[in-house]
Amino acid sequence: MISSYQGVSFPIAEMHTHITVARNMLYHVASLINAGMRASTEIAALKLFSSEMCQEVCRQSLMLHGGRGYHKSFAVERLLRDSLALTIAEGTSQICKVIISNAIYNALPDKG
Ligand SMILES: Cc1cc2nc3c(=O)[nH]c(=O)nc-3n(C[C@H](O)[C@H](O)[C@H](O)COP(=O)(O)OP(=O)(O)OC[C@H]3O[C@@H](n4cnc5c(N)ncnc54)[C@H](O)[C@@H]3O)c2cc1C
Repeated sequence: MISSYQGVSFPIAEMHTHITVARNMLYHVASLINAGMRASTEIAALKLFSSEMCQEVCRQSLMLHGGRGYHKSFAVERLLRDSLALTIAEGTSQICKVIISNAIYNALPDKG
């Protein structure tokens, strides 16, 4: 079985870890919103991390399927194409970085 190779099983462990991090970020942002707190920086960080991570997870998944991953009969090629849209719609990754970096800059005591 190819899953017995660490070259295959390690990316799966990493993908699971990254998805878990994104899910926990989501719960954190949801708790801030539930508490009526401002969360625009955390939302931008969540959008940036989870959409870029999703794209990388889909790319890794396609590679793990080998040549079949590229074929339209396998759902993973569709997932990779769709994941590209997540980094564009509702605020591109670049705009998320603008929001996050502005918040960090504005929080500095001495802005020079
Ligand atoms: C699948 C999908 C669904 C969508 N659904 C909707 C929808 O339902 N309703 C809706 O209104 N829109 C929708 N959109 C549009 C989407 O919100 C925009 O495509 C997105 O906000 C980017 O705007 P733009 O395409 O005009 O790119 P532009 O604003 O022209 O940006 C082009 C590039 O320049 C970068 N860029 C722009 N400004 C800056 C800056 N100040 N600093 C750094 N980089 C910058 C961007 O990150 C991007 O990489 C959808 C898009 C997709 C892909």
